[in-house]
Amino acid sequence: MTKTYTFSESQSIIFNDKKVVECTLCKGNGFITNYTYQTDTSGRKVKVETFEVCEDCGDTGVTISKMSLPMLISLLADRVLNTDIKTTDEEKIKLKIEAQEVFSKVAVNRKVWADNLSSFSGKFLSEAEKNCNEPVTFIASLGSTMKFENISYQLVKPYGTEKWFLTYGADVRGAVAQPQPPQQGGRGGWRRQLPTVTSSGSYVMVTGIIRGMGTVESGGKIYSAPMIEAADIVTLRK
Ligand SMILES: [Zn+2]
Repeated sequence: MTKTYTFSESQSIIFNDKKVVECTLCKGNGFITNYTYQTDTSGRKVKVETFEVCEDCGDTGVTISKMSLPMLISLLADRVLNTDIKTTDEEKIKLKIEAQEVFSKVAVNRKVWADNLSSFSGKFLSEAEKNCNEPVTFIASLGSTMKFENISYQLVKPYGTEKWFLTYGADVRGAVAQPQPPQQGGRGGWRRQLPTVTSSGSYVMVTGIIRGMGTVESGGKIYSAPMIEAADIVTLRK
């Protein structure tokens, strides 16, 4: 029996997670603003703003190296998808939108985040048949999209693996762009970003629950793969 959550239980957890994911050093900005004084051409002292990439989060604004973050994000999927029967459709949409704000924040293309997610979700994904109802979050490359019995499916391949999964329940959406510091200033520190994951295609972050094996028929082909009910699929922001 899957545990379910009331609307207010889910909402308070999502609200709390919004704060938890944010880097405390730069307050989620990804950069730190410093002030220095310079003398201008007329000899007046003027205050000048400079911006430096945050040492703690490497400009992402979120604590992606924190080991507990993958579990926290995955449990968010649990709160969005396993609502109790009293939760109205309107409330479900509200939860989804609020959770998407958190997912957008953490959908960053950084190798340290992909690795952190892999070490948490990899063990569930590699034996998906045995791990039904486990919430997972992972970075994946996109395969084709298909429709079967009026449900849309998306093929995804988790980062660092060769195994395909079928997702349903959420469409791929673009993440909100990371705030950038204003153009002036910079001191060159802006280039010290964390390494990203690269491939010929684009990567997404999938957050959802493993739902066992499934079969989908499309274009005369049969796809048999582990299923993920997705709470969100979001393209990674740079
Ligand atoms: Zn930071």
